[in-house]
Amino acid sequence: MGGNVSVAQPLAVVADPLDKEAVAELSRHARVADATSGKEALERDLPSAQALLVRSRTKVDAAMISRGEKLTVIGRAGVGVDNIDVAAATKRGIPVVNAPAAATTSVAELVVGLLVAVARDLGSQVPSLKKGEWKKAGNGLELAGRTVGFIGYGRIAREAGNRLKAFGMKVQAYDPYLTKSPDGAPLLSLEELLASSQVVSLHTPLTPETKNLLNAGNLSRLPKGAIVLNVARGGLVDEAALLAALESGHLAGAGLDVFEEEPPKNAQLLAHPKVVVTPHIGASTHEAQARAGSVTVEQVLKVLRGETPEYCVNPEARRT
Ligand code: NAD
Repeated sequence: MGGNVSVAQPLAVVADPLDKEAVAELSRHARVADATSGKEALERDLPSAQALLVRSRTKVDAAMISRGEKLTVIGRAGVGVDNIDVAAATKRGIPVVNAPAAATTSVAELVVGLLVAVARDLGSQVPSLKKGEWKKAGNGLELAGRTVGFIGYGRIAREAGNRLKAFGMKVQAYDPYLTKSPDGAPLLSLEELLASSQVVSLHTPLTPETKNLLNAGNLSRLPKGAIVLNVARGGLVDEAALLAALESGHLAGAGLDVFEEEPPKNAQLLAHPKVVVTPHIGASTHEAQARAGSVTVEQVLKVLRGETPEYCVNPEARRT
């Protein structure tokens, strides 16, 4: 009898490591194929799967979607769906669901951490002392009284802004899709924002419009001694231009969690003494991963049951 029940259950392929509790919940309603070991397992299970769940590691391109002949839903345990060919999924009538707010707090906290690390030169100070040196350089910066300009003023930027206000920073933003400020922070043009922000922090999705948004021209509009933060997507900053602006002394530093290519190949930028880098860990906290897993599983199960998911990035997709 048990066999009949499992045959009736849909097959869900989990291609990237997800929160254990979330996978346990998924397995109460579906047969779960663990394909986290790599391509072979994914190739084997995908053709018979109704659901595919990924984080950011697995690239779900059009070819992969076409091999998933029975797919009725793709779940992305996180917010950015740039690793999924959403257009190809839509064409097949496959909803792509995600967990857009799961990592907001974690990423906002990393913005604060990176900014403090850059302002106080922790990228050099910490390894120096660990090597046994004692170099008390007095060249740090205080955040209080400085202005942070957010490019893209959505969930993460606003949460980061709230935290930085507690440091005594002034918050302003550029976001052409907002008709009015959600919280009183002044909305400026990009030119005005760049000219008047000692810290600029990127928080837009990566699209053709935002690719290389911080290029050499826009970096040169920042005041001398400004700090650039990017915890959104690598392609938003022209890395060669960023390195040049750091080397010329125009920028005081940069904090980067994301890179044009990941893992990054730009050794000069990574090694630059004024750059603090982390390996795309914005969402890598227990809390964010637990939230991302549970919300994504809930959304996937809704689609499998024929219900309407709240977080669907292509609501125009019609199930076939
Ligand atoms: P969100 O959708 O809440 O906010 C994005 C904002 O960008 C929106 O307000 C939108 O109007 C604005 N925007 C879009 N195009 C713009 C443009 N051309 N110029 C200026 N603003 C523009 O998204 P969020 O949850 O705040 O996430 C923001 C970014 O953070 C995304 O790129 C996401 O992929 C990234 N992210 C990174 C990590 C990480 O691990 N480092 C984790 C989660 C999210």
